[in-house]
This record gives sequence, structure tokens and C-alpha cells, in this order.
Amino acid sequence: MSDTIHKLVIIGSGPAGLTAALYAARAELAPLVIAGISPGGQLMLTTEVENFPGFPEGIQGPDLMQNMLKQVERFGAVIVNENAASVDFSSQPFKVKTETQEFLTKTVIIATGADANWLGLPNEQRLRGKGVSACATCDGFFFKGKEVVVIGGGDSAMEEANFLTKFASHVTIVHRREEFKASKIMLARAEANPKIKFIVNATVIDVLGEATVSGVKIKHNDTGAEEIVEAQGYFAAIGHTPATKLFATAGVEVNSKGYIVPKVFTETNIPGVFVAGDVHDHRYRQAVTAAGEGCKAALDAEKFLAEHEQ
Ligand code: NDP
Repeated sequence: MSDTIHKLVIIGSGPAGLTAALYAARAELAPLVIAGISPGGQLMLTTEVENFPGFPEGIQGPDLMQNMLKQVERFGAVIVNENAASVDFSSQPFKVKTETQEFLTKTVIIATGADANWLGLPNEQRLRGKGVSACATCDGFFFKGKEVVVIGGGDSAMEEANFLTKFASHVTIVHRREEFKASKIMLARAEANPKIKFIVNATVIDVLGEATVSGVKIKHNDTGAEEIVEAQGYFAAIGHTPATKLFATAGVEVNSKGYIVPKVFTETNIPGVFVAGDVHDHRYRQAVTAAGEGCKAALDAEKFLAEHEQ
């Protein structure tokens, strides 16, 4: 372990982590970014990104992240391509361990994001970005005039389905039960939408298609009968899992769904530990909102350091 006490360690390298790094590097905090073994976050798994401002023709998700990485390195942020293995926030300086190194730091920004939940079907993974998505706001536009299936019975499924009807010719919501977790108002809105059809009490058993999605195979739970729903789009809306285990164990307050709860602006219940992006935000979940929060967390960390400088 080196004795160096860093000013700021950022954990995570999606738009939140890298924007935090950009601001912190330009504020001469020499941030260290624990970027993970597969850096870049969820945008590495998307194709075309058309809703990140500044790219009139759109940009591929991995290219956007590569650009962000280059930009932060230009200002001297140090990137560590390892996963964070444990953290100790019990006293100053904080400790952040990877598999091979331990870093001491005065402040930390947690920007580890959240992963969309998937059903776990092999073809669901194979067709990711080829008709399979977990983000209607990101990818809905590509389904103009097409038929789409949305999986889930919560608010996300209702919201995604409603949003998708702006583009798709039809949306079929497939839900595994007859009762819905979704709030009454969101469910009523989907039910009132003439482009949305519901199939309840059914399990998705396969996603069909060679190069792109061509249909979704479902099984009716009561009869066991199988059916193919023709569709060119497949949207999983079965929740997200924030990457917070490490931090909850270290005393960072999380809510019942595991999301970090910021206390004052971006600061968590532990002074000097800040949060940005999807790891606390289950509502907006956009690259641009995550980037905005990364900026805020860096400014808050900078202010904290200025106030605690001996
Ligand atoms: P939820 O956990 O509320 O719902 C997940 C849905 O997916 C449930 O219907 C669940 O079924 C289903 N599901 C989960 N796992 C599987 C599986 N393996 N196979 C089939 N179906 C599965 O997640 P949401 O993302 O919908 O919402 C998360 C939070 O965000 C909620 O608090 C919600 O209110 C909020 N939100 C609010 C919005 C708004 O206010 N505009 C918009 C979107 C989300 P089952 O019901 O059987 O468990």
C-alpha cells in the first residue's frame, strides 16, 4: 500500500464517474478513477446514442465512453482498470481496495451505476442491441412502425410501453401474474392506450430471431400452451439492481431497493462520501442526467476538501 493520500477516488466509469473525473481533474484534485475491469458502464452495451446533446448524427455508446475517457485522461485523471473489492469509510483517510492495490483518500464519489435485470435467456443476451433492450427512452426511436413486446408489470413496464407507442405500431405487455405492481394511474394509462395489448399470467421462454429479433415465445401459465408473439423489439422492464453491496456493508445508507440515499445535495450519510448517477437514481437513469450528477458530486467533493483543508 502506498502512503499517498489522494484527494478524491471515484468508483465507477460510466457517464457519472467520468464527468466527475473531468470536473475534479480540471479543479486539480488529481482524481483516481477505479474504472472496473470492463469500464464505461451501461453505454458500452448500447449501439446508437441519439439523445446525448452535442452529437447531431448520434454516436455509438462505446465511442461516447471512449471519448469521455480520453477527455479525462487529457486533464490528468488516473484510471485504474480494476474492480473495487472493498471500502472502509469508518475513519479518515478512507480506504478503497481493489484486488491488487489499496488507496487512501480524503473523499470518494460512488458512481457504480445499476444494471438492468434480464430474464437470463441465452437468446436475450445474444440479441442485445439487435432488438433487445432495457431502455425505451434510449432505443424506442429505432422501432418506428414495428411491433414490440415489453416484459414486466411494474411502473417501468407501463411507462416504457406507453412511451414506445409513440413509435411502435403495437406494444404487447407480457406479465407473469394477473395482478400488477404498477401504480393504478400508470396501469390505467396503459390500459386506455389503444396501441397496447396485455398478455398476463404468461412466462417468456425464448426470444426468436437470427440477426435481429423476430418474435417472443411465451408460455401461458394456466394451460401450459406456448405462443409466438411476432415482434421486432423486446424490452425487459423487470427492474434494475444498483451496484451498492460494497457500500451498504461499509455503512452507506441505502433504501429498501438497495439504492444509495443522498443526504445533502450529493453527499451520503458519511461526510466526504458522495454519490452520482444510477446508483442512487432509479427514476431518470439517463446518460445525460448521470453526467450532470457526476459534475455536481465533483463540485461538492471540491467544496468539502476546501472546507476541510488544514
Ligand atoms: P418493479 O420492481 O416495481 O417491477 C418489476 C416488474 O417486473 C414486476 O411486475 C415483476 O413481476 C416483474 N419481474 C421481475 N422479475 C421478473 C422475472 N424474472 N420474470 C418476469 N417478470 C419479472 O420495478 P420497476 O422498474 O417497474 O420500478 C422500480 C421503481 O421505480 C418502482 O418504485 C416504481 O414505482 C418506480 N418507477 C416510477 C415511475 C414513475 O413514477 N413515473 C416510472 C418507472 C418506475 P411481479 O409483479 O410478479 O413481481
